[in-house]
Parts: sequence; structure tokens; C-alpha cells
Amino acid sequence: MPGTLFIVAAPSGAGKSSIVNAVLARDPRLCLSISFTSRQPRPGERHAEHYHFIAVDEFKAMIRNGDFFEYAEVHGDWKGTARQSVLPQLAAGKDVVLEIDWQGARQVRAQVPDAIGIFILPPSRNALEQRMRSRGQDSEETIRRRLAAAREEMSHYDEFDYVVVNEVFDDAVDEVCAVVAGSRARRPVQRVRHEALIAELLRDG
Ligand code: 5GP
Repeated sequence: MPGTLFIVAAPSGAGKSSIVNAVLARDPRLCLSISFTSRQPRPGERHAEHYHFIAVDEFKAMIRNGDFFEYAEVHGDWKGTARQSVLPQLAAGKDVVLEIDWQGARQVRAQVPDAIGIFILPPSRNALEQRMRSRGQDSEETIRRRLAAAREEMSHYDEFDYVVVNEVFDDAVDEVCAVVAGSRARRPVQRVRHEALIAELLRDG
């Protein structure tokens, strides 16, 4: 595939979406895949911008149709990436970012072994808990459940190629941008992207 696929994972509360949005704003060659979910929208979330919000039945129909590139049940809700959100873009040479969990990341790696995995960690346990509470939208019980889910997600950090600790937000954004730039400069990627240039430079005479 001419484009590069980036998988960004993190426990909820690590600041993943803010980092990804800042990286996307800086880098016009990247596009974000909007996931499908059976979860209800939270206040302020918009259809087709944060997620494609669909009913459980619709989600299951998409599974049966083989519409998903990857999907998983995350915190009791179905989440998935449509093939259509990824494969045409990669084929057209665009670089695609997936914000998905470790279960989805495994499915992606099985199909695209040279996908680049980036795992974002919070700077401390305390900071993670504070960030979860500061959302102010969830009950104590939900927060406890999310903390346990965060530990479970973080236990999979070693399945990813790069780890970024979100201590200073701007530094974390810089680090992700550096990973993106470095990944694009890999020889197999450059060989496809600059095929004509390389042929010209290596021409006889
Ligand atoms: P939230 O419900 O807070 O928006 O997302 C919780 C987690 O669901 C995210 O951190 C992300 O790991 C996961 N997620 C979001 N979209 C997808 C998706 O399309 N596929 C998978 N496997 N996980 C997703």
C-alpha cells in the first residue's frame, strides 16, 4: 500500500484525542478514520465527526456484511473501523490514523504488518485519575470501571512500536509528529513514493 497506517492507542484519560487532533492540524497529509460505534453520543459529540453513531443492530449487520477492517467490544460498546475508511485512502497514498484499542490494533497488524503502532501513556497514575474525574460526566462507579479498563489497556503497551508519555502536551505532539516523519522516511515507503525520482537518479549515462 502506498500510504502509511498509524495506530494510536492509549487508556482513556491519557489525552489521546487532543494529541491526535493537534498532530492532524499540523500535518495535512494525515487523515483520521472516523469509527463506528453503538455507544450513545456524549454531550457535545457530533455524528460523523467524533463517531458514526449507529444502533447495535446496524453494527451487527455491518459485522455480518464484512464491512469492518477491525472491530471490538470496548467498555461494553461496539467500536469498529470500516474498510471504506482505510483501504481506499491507503491505496491513494494517504496516511491514515486509527484511534483504536489494543484488540483492534492486533486485528490491524494481522492485515497490515507494517502499520506503525503508537501508545500514549499518562505521566502518572494520579494524573490519569485526575483527568478522568475532570471530565465531570461520569459517576464514581463508572470512573472505577474506567480506571480498571485503563490498566488493562496499558498492559498492552508493549505490542506497540513507539511509546509517548503525555507529560507536557506540546512535547507529546512533537514526539508523535517525529514518529510520523520518521515512519514516512523508511526506505520501503520512500521507494514507492519516489519511484520516478529514484529511477531517474539511477538511470545509466
Ligand atoms: P470513547 O468511548 O471514550 O470514545 O472511546 C474509548 C476507546 O474506544 C478509545 O480509547 C479507543 O481505544 C476505543 N475505540 C474507539 N474507536 C474504536 C474503533 O473503531 N475500534 C476499536 N477497536 N476501538 C476503538
